[in-house]
Amino acid sequence: MDLSNRVQSIPSSVTLQVTARIRELKAEGKDVIGFGAGEPNFTTPDVICQAAIASLEAGVTGYQAVPGTIPAREAIAEKLRVENNIECQASDIVISAGGKHAIYLVCQALLDPGRGQEVVLPTPAWVGYRPSIELSGGTVVEVPGSTDRDFKITPQQLDEAITDKTTMVIFNTPSNPCGTAYTPEEIRALAEVLAAHPEPMILSDEIYEKLLYGGFEHLSFGSIPEIADRVITINGLSKSFAMTGWRIGYTCAPGPVGGARGGLAKAMTRLQSQMNTCITSFTYAAIEAAMRDADADVATMCEAFAERAQVIYDQISRWPEVRCPKPTGAFYAFPDISAYFGRVSPGGKKIESAVDFASALLEETLVAVVPGEDFGEIARGHVRLSFATTVEQIIEGCQRVEKWLTKISSHSAVGSA
Ligand code: GLU
Repeated sequence: MDLSNRVQSIPSSVTLQVTARIRELKAEGKDVIGFGAGEPNFTTPDVICQAAIASLEAGVTGYQAVPGTIPAREAIAEKLRVENNIECQASDIVISAGGKHAIYLVCQALLDPGRGQEVVLPTPAWVGYRPSIELSGGTVVEVPGSTDRDFKITPQQLDEAITDKTTMVIFNTPSNPCGTAYTPEEIRALAEVLAAHPEPMILSDEIYEKLLYGGFEHLSFGSIPEIADRVITINGLSKSFAMTGWRIGYTCAPGPVGGARGGLAKAMTRLQSQMNTCITSFTYAAIEAAMRDADADVATMCEAFAERAQVIYDQISRWPEVRCPKPTGAFYAFPDISAYFGRVSPGGKKIESAVDFASALLEETLVAVVPGEDFGEIARGHVRLSFATTVEQIIEGCQRVEKWLTKISSHSAVGSA
């Protein structure tokens, strides 16, 4: 019996592979420093945990409505109206098992194999988009952002990438893995281009919206009237509320798809009814608490991330022959390490790729980073560091990398002299 071509065609998530390896090494008692998964090192705020505990104690243990309970969807819709200026109501919201599942449902609802549908994806982009698109039958069209522009694409690049085959355009700001964000003006300029192309849907993944540093402001694509009825806003509780293990994501799809307002939300609900029914029953109360009562906790975590963004940037700036845009959002740094390709690590390994770099680094210094390849063609010379860890770990880990790189640099210098 063969496995399906579909399942054989996708790699497993590299971010999760690195994280699993960190876990194994730690279990073996190794002093590993993990810059792997984008997972806050905080526990979930107490006010949110208490809401779930109370719900569990009140006996909320049965199946719930497929797209989520009305009060939880109302709390999300209210948040989106008040904080994001997105016109929506509870019936436009579908709650799913994490942002990743929400994105997969959107792709399944909009794409078919064999129809030649394209999805425009600014890169470097998170490793999860391509598999969701391809599993659904779509083709990815990468639009590369350059290191010099903080990895952001220009309106002209967007305009050139959209064709009559474009079914959807994806944005993710603040960005995983880039750690940078578009300004409101830049978003408006991209929206102008999108307004001139009335067909494609626009998926805006805003899971890092609250994690912005250095005065950056977030603007939701779904708040821009000219395009709002085609914007699908994805968000979730994992990152801002330190709730990765709870698996809570949501989609807001207020516009007309298939001729009806909320058509996409209904289609996703049908799919979800055949996949996992609903998310865990007693977490809906936690969603309400997160939407309404956790602002102070989020602000505290955000302050910590802002400090770490500065620390990791200062540290990486000391690495020889490495360029890295300053992190202004999310909790990632995405340095260009391609100057080391073609060289040999202190432990004698030939470095030809980011995968080689990351694996030699882990073996020789016990520092884990995510290699860039799966974030897009343009990302092949990069590695991702998640700084959702302590300042002490950031400094220790970055210093280990610095020493390691210095050895390669000085060795090459001697060799070429
Ligand atoms: N989104 C996080 C990351 O990029 C979690 C792992 C994943 O889903 O890729 O590290």
